[in-house]
Order: sequence, then structure tokens, then C-alpha cells
Amino acid sequence: MKKLLCIALGILFSVIFINPVVAFSPTKNPWSGYSYVNASYETPAGKVVNCRRYTQELSQAEIDAAYNSDAAFLGKVGLSWSVVCKPTLRFNCYSYALYSTNYQTNQYVVDNTADEFMNEGPLYAYFTDPHFTKVPNYRAGSNDSANIANVGDVVFYFKSKTDMVILHAGVVSQIDSNGKPTMVISKWGPSGLYEHAPTAIPRDYLGMEGVSLASRELYYETYSFTRNHSYTNWTKVSATTHKGTCKISGCPSTKTEAHGYGPTTYNSSNHSKTCQKCSYVSSQAHSYTCTNTGSSTTHKLSCACGYSKTESHGMSWSSTSDTKHKGTCSKCSYSTTGNHTFGAWTSSGTSGHSHRCSVCSKVITAAHIYNGTQCTVCGYTGPGVAPIIIPKAIWKSLLLHD
Ligand SMILES: [Zn+2]
Ligand SMILES: [Zn+2]
Ligand SMILES: [Zn+2]
Ligand SMILES: [Zn+2]
Ligand SMILES: [Zn+2]
Ligand SMILES: [Zn+2]
Repeated sequence: MKKLLCIALGILFSVIFINPVVAFSPTKNPWSGYSYVNASYETPAGKVVNCRRYTQELSQAEIDAAYNSDAAFLGKVGLSWSVVCKPTLRFNCYSYALYSTNYQTNQYVVDNTADEFMNEGPLYAYFTDPHFTKVPNYRAGSNDSANIANVGDVVFYFKSKTDMVILHAGVVSQIDSNGKPTMVISKWGPSGLYEHAPTAIPRDYLGMEGVSLASRELYYETYSFTRNHSYTNWTKVSATTHKGTCKISGCPSTKTEAHGYGPTTYNSSNHSKTCQKCSYVSSQAHSYTCTNTGSSTTHKLSCACGYSKTESHGMSWSSTSDTKHKGTCSKCSYSTTGNHTFGAWTSSGTSGHSHRCSVCSKVITAAHIYNGTQCTVCGYTGPGVAPIIIPKAIWKSLLLHD
């Protein structure tokens, strides 16, 4: 008896599906009458998705009418719901679920013209993209403990469990403690984007007009779909870049970007930093700035990396007078004055003797000071100072004077 009832319902459903006459039916395009341009974009792994981009928006009256109708339906269902985005022609359920959940920037409308799940049409691009996992995470009504949806899963609504034509798509937004979806966010054709209980979708939107909410079969499954690439296995390309591959097996996407360094470390000879993704080590010799610390012997060399050390001044000296000299460090500008530190006098021959400051090289020259024929200062032996010989007659005249 039960079996007969099922068959009878099946026939009834078939009749309804063949000839849906409703505003949001998948076979009667509710988007017609508005202007659009053909467009295309690529799935994460580079499969082309042909789509439309509307160049026209609903009027305010159309937005209000569609929203009020949806709100009335949801109110009747009696489950919690909320509006995420008011009715718009900018995007639809498939582009929201698969292309981008950013409803403010998404501007693609993707048709599902596939006869059967995963066989053809624009959505087929996703089913051959490794970012989409073909095995469902959750099947509505299943009691299997491994039957667990994830928040973010794509939800596909099918005509029925046995007629796997995709009618609608959304994204799981909430699950209960058993992993069962409790809320889904989906775009209702050219109407609004709502967060709603998984089964709270207008019957006419799914081609089920005339079937009571309680008795209609509404079958859905959830699938993992990684909307963005996630790169891993970073390898060094150059001193400035590394390259990663998408971690989703089979996705050909790679990304080249600048190294991302961790903290800089240093030792006495260089500083270095290690890329946290590819482990490339970039090291450089320290680059010092020199500071005068006031010390008479050293200045400080410090590198931006934090390393510092002291180093002896590089003094250059010059004489400022016969007794003083001045020294200045060529690196830090430290300067000081002091007395010459002369070495021993040395003879420069008949002309005299000299001594030299060991610090600034100032040379002082002077005449020999003889004691006899030897200079008492430098030991030079020369002609000496010739004795004055006074002739006898002069002696006499001197003595006889007065
Ligand atoms: Zn990828
Ligand atoms: Zn790197
Ligand atoms: Zn350094
Ligand atoms: Zn110095
Ligand atoms: Zn000197
Ligand atoms: Zn001398």
C-alpha cells in the first residue's frame, strides 16, 4: 500500500516538474527582461565558468515586492531567518555558493544548465576542479555518524534523492552538535540573500509549487569547496622571493611572493633573518654607525640589528704649537689636545740637532751647544768654538791702556 502511494506521489511530482508555471522556476527564467552582458571567470584551478553580468538592477518596487513575498513565506514556515542582502540582480545562488560569498562585490550570475549532476553546464567547471570535493559531507536525512557538515560547505538542493538535478545552492552557516546543518545562507534567484533553515525555501522557487511544505521532498547534500588557494611547500626562488604550490592536490596554481622573515638575530660578524615559509637565510655583514662616547681610547660601533662593539679611535694628530698638539678621531670626531712627547735629540750634522714628537711628528731644530768640540745635547763632535787668540801686541796695548 505504502509502495503504491509512493508511486502515485512520484507520478504527481513528475507531472509538476514537467510543467512548472512559476515565477522562480528553474525552467522559466525569472531573470529575463533585464539587460545583461555575457561574462566569464575562472574557478580556483583555472576552469572557465561562463556566466552573465547584469547591467540593470531591480527597481525599488520590485525589490520591496520580492522581499515582502519572501518574508511572508518565511514567516509562514515559522523558523528563524534573517535577510543578508535585499533582492538584487547582481548575483545568484550558484555564484554566491561557488564564486564568492562577498555579496557586495560578487557580480556574476551562473546558470545551471546541467541535465544531471556533475555532467555539463557552467557548474561542471567546479566539479572538475580539485577545490571541490565530489563526495558529500552531509546527506539530508542520513543517520550515519560520519554524516557531518562543515560551516562553509556548499549545499546543493536536488530535485529528489533519486533525481539528482541541482535546483539550488547555498552555503552552510550553522550546524548543530551532531554536525547537522541548522542554517544555510542562499540567494533566491533574483530575490534576496537569506539565512534560513535548510528546508525553508519557497516551493515555487524549487519548481514544487502545489506541493505542500510538509509533503514535498527536499533533498540536499553538503560538499567541501575551498574557494581560495591555500599555498604550501614554499621553496626559494631568489634572494627576494619564494614560490608555493596550492596544497589542494591536483590544483596547478603556484604563487611567488617576497620572503617573510622572522626576527633578525646576530653574532659578532653578521646579522641574519630566516624566511618563515621557505627557511631561506638572508645574512649581511653589520653596517655600523660610529658614536663618540667621550672615552679617550674608544668609540662605539653599533648596527641597526642591535649588535654593538667598541673600537679604538683612529686618531690623526697635528701640531698646534711648539709645545702642544691636537688629535681628532676620523670616525667619531672625538678630539683632544696634549703636550708633544719628544724623543731624544739627534744630530742633523753641522747645522744643529733636532727632536721629533712621537705622536704628531712635530720636529724642533736647534743649534748645537758645544763644550769644546762636542755638543752637550746630542753628542755631536764638530769643530767646536775656535778659541780667540789675542796677539801679544794687542794684549800689551790693552794692559797699557791708561
Ligand atoms: Zn588551488
Ligand atoms: Zn621564503
Ligand atoms: Zn648588524
Ligand atoms: Zn673615535
Ligand atoms: Zn706632538
Ligand atoms: Zn747637538
